[in-house]
Amino acid sequence: MTELACAAAIVERAKAAIARLGRHFIDGEWVSGSGAPITVENPADGRAIGAIAAGTAADIDRAVAAARRAFEDPAWQHMAAAERERLLLRLADLVEANADELAAIETLDNGMPFGPSRMMAAGSAISAIRYNAGWPRRLTGETVPVSVPGQWHGYTVRDPLGVAALIVPWNAPLAITANKLSAALAAGCTVVLKPAELAPMTGLRLAELVAEAGFPKGVANVVTGLGSEAGAALVNHPGIDKISFTGSTATGKGILRASADGLKRVSLELGGKSASIVFPDADLARAIPGVAMGIFGNSGQVCAAGSRLFLHADVFDRFLDGLAEFAGKLKVGPGLNAGTALGPLISAAQKDRVMGYIESGRSEGANAVIGGDAPGGAGHFVNPTVFVDARPDMRIVREEIFGPVLSVMRLSDESSDDLARMANASEYGLSAYVWTSSLPRAQGLARRLRSGSVKVNGSGMEFALPFGGYRQSGIGRENGRSGVEAFTETKAVMIGWQD
Ligand code: NAD
Repeated sequence: MTELACAAAIVERAKAAIARLGRHFIDGEWVSGSGAPITVENPADGRAIGAIAAGTAADIDRAVAAARRAFEDPAWQHMAAAERERLLLRLADLVEANADELAAIETLDNGMPFGPSRMMAAGSAISAIRYNAGWPRRLTGETVPVSVPGQWHGYTVRDPLGVAALIVPWNAPLAITANKLSAALAAGCTVVLKPAELAPMTGLRLAELVAEAGFPKGVANVVTGLGSEAGAALVNHPGIDKISFTGSTATGKGILRASADGLKRVSLELGGKSASIVFPDADLARAIPGVAMGIFGNSGQVCAAGSRLFLHADVFDRFLDGLAEFAGKLKVGPGLNAGTALGPLISAAQKDRVMGYIESGRSEGANAVIGGDAPGGAGHFVNPTVFVDARPDMRIVREEIFGPVLSVMRLSDESSDDLARMANASEYGLSAYVWTSSLPRAQGLARRLRSGSVKVNGSGMEFALPFGGYRQSGIGRENGRSGVEAFTETKAVMIGWQD
């Protein structure tokens, strides 16, 4: 029998949760869907793990109405900031207490190996909620000197925007949902969450924990279903004040267009094609695993994946040998099996898409020196793949693949300006990674790189720092103060006074 990555009892709890979670969560109640349910599969074997309700415009309507009532209820509107903080901290404690189960649900639903699912997905969810829990008591405006005639006290306040639609992708649903949800609630909004139809289960389990934490009913609602139906109905609903979307650039553009008539506030966290730059003075013992996991982690299904590598000629061969050795040790397999480092891609369609890119890389003249193939058998697995002889005009270099495929370009001694130009030559601008021991070089590039984040000698998510994209990687920022302020409107108040 295969050894499991976690206790069998945890898997049983996760399966039991999935079995009971196939409904919408509206106004504090679990509500059955009216149409045919949508089957959800385990990407590690293609078998059904459960089903969700296919949300309709009518379901969205009920959820938005519940969120509106909850928003206008004085119990939420006038809740003391410390109480909102307490509720969020209670939610974080519950996520922590159930972290193993949540991680196993994520593994069954999205395929992520249990280790990263526990440490990164559940760990990030806990950190994000705890971080955002600090904001209700710190979201302040400012006092402003007023110069118009008379005596005035001028100040600003941060008002919650109202009812927020949270639309989430399938690649890291637990962490992304927890982050959006806690930021919105910290700001005082109420929400309707639409999880991705391919990996909806942890979003539904979070709804159970929100209720258990004691948030008033209607503050957080979940409607599952297809993007084209439930998602579109949510985006177009006149009762939505704010859309916080994470997903593909194509869908994000459609949402921006759809939101124009209602002038809804929109934040978009979209795709990426991030560059890693490795200099000869980099600590290769750290850079090799860092670059490798920056593209192979979560099987490349990461918006900020470092999918273009600019590698200096002086360390080119040594680095690639190290990369091959590292990749060779990464066990590809079902995420619940002990020792698995890389799980499956989310779906057969995504696997076909990634294999299509590998084919296009070859036909455009790049060479796959690592991987380039897929293991046989059930499940949507693709082996970690590295292309050399890649050119900036190739599709594998220009387009977001969202799979474990790295394209490598050789550097000589380009100036920082030229390097930045090469790295910036993408329609995306989400993240960039620099590996060097030279502080001036790191700072020079950090200034020149046109991306929402620049990380030097490392990677990872810090919730206190803003995260988001330049260019077609998005609009707005999550995390940090800006992540919570994105769910608020600034109000200016002038109060006249007399001597
Ligand atoms: P997607 O755009 O297909 O779907 C995302 C969500 O939008 C899903 O819940 C889907 O049901 C919904 N949706 C689809 N069509 C819709 C419509 N017309 N109206 C409203 N909602 C709709 O994206 P995906 O394939 O689930 O996710 C992968 C993409 O997400 C990649 O491009 C990746 O880079 C991006 N992503 C970005 C970030 C970031 O923070 N920048 C993080 C994770 C993923």
